[in-house]
Order: sequence, then structure tokens, then C-alpha cells
Amino acid sequence: LEKVPSDIEIAMAQTPKRISDLALEIGLLPDELESYGKYKAKVELSVLERLAHRKNGKYIVISGITPTPLGEGKSTTTIGLAQALGAELGRPAFACVRQPSQGPTFGIKGGAAGGGYSQVIPMDEFNLHLTGDIHAVTAANNLLAAALDARMFHEATQSDKALYTRLVPTKKGKREFAPLMFKRLQKLGIDKTNPNDLTPEEITRFARLDVDPATITWNRVMDTNDRFLRKIIVGKGPAEQGHERETGFDIAVASECMAVLALTTGLEDMRTRLGAMVVATSKQGQPITADDIGVSGALAVLLKDAIKPNLMQTLQASAGTPVFVHAGPFANIAHGNSSILADQIALKLAGTEEGDSPDRVGYVLTEGGFGADMGMEKFCNIKCRVSGLKPDGVVIVATTRALKMHGGGPDVTPGKPLHETYTKEDLVILKEGCKNLVKHIQNSRKFGIKVVVAINQFSSDTAAELALVRDEALAGGADAAVVSNHWAEGGAGARALAEALVATCEGSSQFKFLYDLNLSIEEKISIISREIYGADGIELSPLARTQVDTYTKQGYSNLTICMAKTQYSFSHDPKLKGVPTGFTIPIREVRLSAGAGFLYPILGDMATMPGLGTRPGFWEVGLDPVTGAVQGLF
Ligand code: ADP
Repeated sequence: LEKVPSDIEIAMAQTPKRISDLALEIGLLPDELESYGKYKAKVELSVLERLAHRKNGKYIVISGITPTPLGEGKSTTTIGLAQALGAELGRPAFACVRQPSQGPTFGIKGGAAGGGYSQVIPMDEFNLHLTGDIHAVTAANNLLAAALDARMFHEATQSDKALYTRLVPTKKGKREFAPLMFKRLQKLGIDKTNPNDLTPEEITRFARLDVDPATITWNRVMDTNDRFLRKIIVGKGPAEQGHERETGFDIAVASECMAVLALTTGLEDMRTRLGAMVVATSKQGQPITADDIGVSGALAVLLKDAIKPNLMQTLQASAGTPVFVHAGPFANIAHGNSSILADQIALKLAGTEEGDSPDRVGYVLTEGGFGADMGMEKFCNIKCRVSGLKPDGVVIVATTRALKMHGGGPDVTPGKPLHETYTKEDLVILKEGCKNLVKHIQNSRKFGIKVVVAINQFSSDTAAELALVRDEALAGGADAAVVSNHWAEGGAGARALAEALVATCEGSSQFKFLYDLNLSIEEKISIISREIYGADGIELSPLARTQVDTYTKQGYSNLTICMAKTQYSFSHDPKLKGVPTGFTIPIREVRLSAGAGFLYPILGDMATMPGLGTRPGFWEVGLDPVTGAVQGLF
């Protein structure tokens, strides 16, 4: 294999196409585009109505084996495969990926634009602020946090009457409820429209949310790995003395506002979901929502632009391969999938009109983060349940190097040369490691979808190793298993993979969910743990049990389940590689994301705010003072 230049060299060598030109080529109207500079644009949701009559294109989720520090190349494969379907096979092809968080970008991982000759460009814009969606999510989340603390403060320092007269002030001699207050009145069963008619008892119930501080689940968020914010005390200013409380920060991409952005199906739906977000329980045992606090309209306003998917391009845009980059929930501590709206728009743009030949059917490749036990499981059970879309297939990305680690290969230290297990042929360790791939294949089959294994080729792979992985994958139940060299060759290197995908996914989808929503919370968690992770069972901590009882009493037991688990193992223990058995999953805590529509069990000691290591990625990042070009983001 020839020497491949660095990711940034390849990305910089390519002049991107103007996004307005690309938009026209893929069938968007000029009015449906809102440009953010030359190479990025937001797409109006109205395109969904205009193309409603079209039959959707094929819908493929890209996932992988259990990740290792060696990297499996899921993003690279998503982009490479889109390039192959578009540029090589002449199909409409869309990649739908998440917006990277600045946590990993400056922390451990670097950028997430793919690699080699399979990348999203411009990669610096992709990896940094993009069009500001994560900032908007952060602003919305923190407005709600501020509103909650302020409300508790005012309730603690004012009489019922004073509170009521301030909440419902007199304007031009008349006392009037704000529009959102009618929702609260309805919830309380108070059938009155004139604020002067409320009885003292009704005034108390209306004005006091009576938050039980011990039940607050709403944290502040930011998009930086900042371990010192995991636990903090707020309210240390002189005016707030006596009202201090312990709280913390999560990373923005683990927030419920981000999940809502990713799972929403339109403006009205987003507004409803934001209003339904629960921040705490009242002393009387009632859930307290963003609607109760009166802030949901403002949250929707903050996210009104973020809801529109962002259009970008691959390195092979000359042949027309667009990329939607939208929403960025992490796959370990959140649901790990890009937005439903981006997928829906892409499926219509890739879709067919009556009379079109079947050869015209386009493909939408959407990435489910981390291994198939995380991103793919949540894609199927959470994302597809909300969207009603049925995936036609899953691509599971594997590399010989990562499989060798699952087969017992030694740990790697970043910055140190790789052990020769990973650079020389070793069929024994590789064969053992293939068990991890096979378990992911078998898991995927439980959803009734076709399974294609993409063997992402590295230059040190031998023919015998690649053949072994292919044989093991096919024997393990994959519908196809193909070696792909898109990293070194771009779309051309993934041509065989693209052809296999098209051949495999021709028929109609037999997709099904893994669990029924009407099962108890505990049963649903247990099904995922046993069926997908291979656990013997689950064990709830006393805190988790209380939370499950509360949510069940409050009527939230019929939600989906979003497991917060390490990505590095099928189990809750990152050290257990391969296919661990004989373990019980500890459920430390269960959080409620009522607006997003899921319950969020936290397994073992997962942190919802990552930290920075001793040698974070930011050391490499800089600016060329002459050209202004960003350096070191890869
Ligand atoms: P993932 O999405 O699974 O985290 P990425 O696609 O981001 O993985 O790839 C991780 C890193 O590995 C990137 O820097 C990419 O350039 C590199 N990489 C991916 N595939 C290959 C390959 N076949 N050969 C060499 N490097 C690769």
C-alpha cells in the first residue's frame, strides 16, 4: 500500500464545493437552505412536506465491535461507504453523523471527521463550533437550571401571597396569567381564568412548586471535559447564603436537551418534549417539569435554529456525497445517535418517486456511536421507536487490530509503538477475538435486520487475517462480510462493500424491537442486560430501587431505556474484553428523561462529566498565524 498523507493534509488539499451548489445537486431548493459561511448550511424542515410523497431511501445504521483504544474506524467507514455508494455506484447517498463534542476533541480522541481519504470537510469547522447547536443546547439546559434555583430561592424567602403577586403581577391595572400558567392551573385541577378568583389554598398550591431538594436531577452542563465540576456547591454568594446546595455539571452532549434535539420530529414536538422535562419531585411526590417552571417556551426559542439539520460534504463531493451533521449525544452516557430529522430529510432526498427505477433508490448511512451494544441497540430501541422508521440493515465495522485486543492482545499505551501482535500476523489471537464480532452480529439479528460486516483494512493486515475475519463473520451469521480500503483509497476502496450492502438490503425490512414498552422498568433493563450484554442479571442499588418505584408511581414506567455503560466492554467493567460471561450488572442510579422519553440507568461508576488526562489532545492544536489555518485537529 502506498503511503497515505495525514488526515489534515488530505483534508486541506481538497477545496470544498460551495454548499449552495451541493444543495442544488441533491435536490434542495434555494429557499430551503440557510448558509452559515461557504461550506455549511442549515436545511429548512419544510423540505419534509415538499417531499412527503416520496418513498424513503434505504436506511442503514453503522455500528461496530466493542471499541478499543486502537480505534475501529466507524466514522471513516460511514463516510467511505457514502462516497462509494455516491461516487462509485451513482446512487443518491447520504451520511448522517453526530456533531463532535469539544470534550473528546480536546481530550482524548481528537476530531471525528473520519480519516484518510474518507472524511467530512472542512474538518476544523466540523469539529469545532459548526453552526452553534451545542452552544444552543448548553444555553437552554442552563436557563432551566438557573430558573429552578431562582424559583426555589424565591419560594424559600417569600410568603405565599407575595410570591403569587410577583408571579402574576398587575399590568395596566389588571392581573393576568402568563399563557404557560394555564397549563399549571390545569395540572392542579384549578378551573379558573381570573387570577383574582383563586382561594388562598389555591394560591398556595399554584405559587409553590415545593421542590424537594434531595430529588433534583437537573445539572448544569458545558461542552468541556472538566472533572472539577462533577460535584460543586452553588449559592455561595452573600445574597444566597443559607440556600447553598450540592449539584454538578454534566457534559452538554449528555444532556436531556441534546437528546430532545436528536429525537424530536418537529417544532411542536420539540416544544412539548422540552416542557415535559422533569427536574425534580415536589415534597408531595409530584414530578416538576420545565412547563411548571414556565421556561419551556424560552427553551424552544433557544433551540429554534438548532433543530434544523446542518449540511456539509465528504472529500468526494465532486461526485455529490453530502453529509448531515446534526445533534451529538454521546453513546455511552446518552443515546448516541444523530438526529431523527436529519435522517428523515436524507431519506426523502435519497428516496424515489413513482415510476423511478429501483436502481435509483438511495442510501442513508446513519452512525450509531461506539459498539453495537450501545449505539445500535439505542438506535433500534429508542430512535426508531420515536421516528417510526425501519432500518434495512446494520453495518458492523471491525478491524483485525481491535479484534486481536479482544482475543487477548496486550493493552496499548498512547504515544508508544504498537506491540507486534498488532502489526504482524497472529491468527490464533485474532480468531479468539472474532468472538466479540460474532456476539455483535448475533445481537443485531435479534432486531430482524440484515447484517453486513465491514472489515476496515489497515496496511499491516495480511490476506490470511482478512480472510479469517470474513469467514468467522459469515459463520457467525452475517449476511455479508467484506474487506474495505476506503481509508487509503476513498470511495473506490469501499466499492465492494457498497455492492454487498446494496445486494443484501434489497428486500423489505423485518425490523422488530427487543422489548415491549409495557414491561416494568426492571424487566426492560434486565432484557437489555441479558440479551445484548450477556449478563446473568441485574442488581439495583437501594437508590435505584427508590427511583424506579417513584417513576413507576408517577406514570413513567412505559418509557424506553437508555443505558449509561462503558463502551469498552459488553459488561459494566471496561477491563473485560472479548465476550465476558458470569457477571451481574449493577444499576447505581436511574435518571428520568421524560422529555426525551427514556429512563437512564447508570451502570457501575460511569461519570456523566468526563475528565482530561495528563496529556490531552489540545497540546497538538494551534493556529497558523499567517494563514489562520487550524492545525493539529485529527
Ligand atoms: P471511530 O468512529 O470508530 O471512533 P474513526 O473513524 O474516527 O473511528 O477513526 C479513528 C482513527 O483511526 C482516525 O484517525 C482514522 O484516520 C484512523 N483510521 C481509521 N481507519 C483506518 C485505516 N484503515 N487505516 C489507518 N487508520 C485508520
